[in-house]
Amino acid sequence: MSVSLETVVALAKRRGFVFPGSELYGGLAGTWDYGPLGVLLKRNIERLWWEECVFSREDMLALDAAILMNPRVWDASGHTETFTDPLVECAACKGRFRADKLEDARRCPTCGGALGEPRAFRLMVEAKVGVLDDGSGRVFLRPETAQGIFVNFKNIVDTQRPKLPFGVAQVGKAFRNEISPRDFLFRTREFEQMEIEYFVRPEAWESAFEDWLSTIHRFLARVGVDGERITAVEVPPEERAHYSSRTVDIEFRYPFGQHELLGLAYRGDYDLRRHSEFSGIDLRWKEPGSEPFFPHVIEPSFGLDRLVLAVLVSAYDEDEVGEGKRVVMRFKPEVAPFRAAVFPLLRNKSQLVAKAQEVFRMLRASNPFIAFDDNGNIGKRYRRQDEIGTPWCVTIDFQTLEDGTVTIRNRDTTEQERVPVEDLPDALSLVS
Ligand code: ATP
Repeated sequence: MSVSLETVVALAKRRGFVFPGSELYGGLAGTWDYGPLGVLLKRNIERLWWEECVFSREDMLALDAAILMNPRVWDASGHTETFTDPLVECAACKGRFRADKLEDARRCPTCGGALGEPRAFRLMVEAKVGVLDDGSGRVFLRPETAQGIFVNFKNIVDTQRPKLPFGVAQVGKAFRNEISPRDFLFRTREFEQMEIEYFVRPEAWESAFEDWLSTIHRFLARVGVDGERITAVEVPPEERAHYSSRTVDIEFRYPFGQHELLGLAYRGDYDLRRHSEFSGIDLRWKEPGSEPFFPHVIEPSFGLDRLVLAVLVSAYDEDEVGEGKRVVMRFKPEVAPFRAAVFPLLRNKSQLVAKAQEVFRMLRASNPFIAFDDNGNIGKRYRRQDEIGTPWCVTIDFQTLEDGTVTIRNRDTTEQERVPVEDLPDALSLVS
């Protein structure tokens, strides 16, 4: 169903998924804080990414490089020179905007005043390390995680002895001084990327590209991104980086329009060649019987926060059931913050509460992501769990005390069935 961004932002805050960053002090533009449920949702998406893109394959390795890197890295990668956005300033209200995102690049969208000429605005966030004040400690917070992989290419090859093709995956924070952070988690100044550099023989890039494209679609379906909102867009040559002969943007229909969710780029041998030139260390692939060569690179680059937003938008639903009108987040069970919630039918009957706690602990032994709720009546508890997308609610009632069965209520159908307590781990797919 269609949902407004305001509705998603309000639900995210109300239920503890995402809060505005530093809200206590009036906020800080371009930052958001993940609350208790948001952490669970985000980590589930990340976990499935590791499973689907890394650990289920035999050709992938993992890396976790530092956020702070030697500034020469950004010279080699091209960021120092070209990682800019065109900035325009309004002569009247002093507002600053990204020229390429304006409908009319001459008129201020806020006050209608005249906008000046665009100038290149460097997007990297600067920081200072060390104690000297002579500029020698000037560093940048990485604007992408990818470079950590290229910089460690030799270390990885020397220590792990992989065969081509192979890939290296990394998840971590990236920072960009976006001119206008906006649209909730879509464009922020601090965000998390999940990136892969997949190294291939030059002649093998096309099949690897297709392979990653299908992996991306499989992963998106697995985490519950609505396939009807996804469009794979071939980026035309004039918009691609000069070294890339194919780039596909996976776009998502957000409540504010269709925009990039993630990207898949063929980068040729640009990165390893540049780092060889700048570092003076030969990063070519060497094997007996052939000339040394630079492996070519396929780069699937995912934004974790944009994925969280896409999953929230895809899951949001409202419907009318026997129990009345409700908001229901139809998360995939593997992604939902909680796999199940356990309720004692009545909170003031100590036998029911004790039994419910026993079942809760039993379930938590196989899956820690189980909620316990004894607040308000059962209808209210269902409503609460629907809103945070818990797939199943388990109620302990008087019959449980007699015959050891409980009811399981299904979030999507609202139907209930009775099962023996010992069947719960299977019924809730806890072991998967
Ligand atoms: P855009 O054109 O939207 O600025 P981009 O093409 O600059 O994005 P890339 O440099 O390809 O983005 O970064 C890879 C991924 O990182 C993006 O597909 C997106 O998911 C994520 N990403 C990039 N910038 C941001 C941001 N400011 N906030 C949140 N996620 C981002």
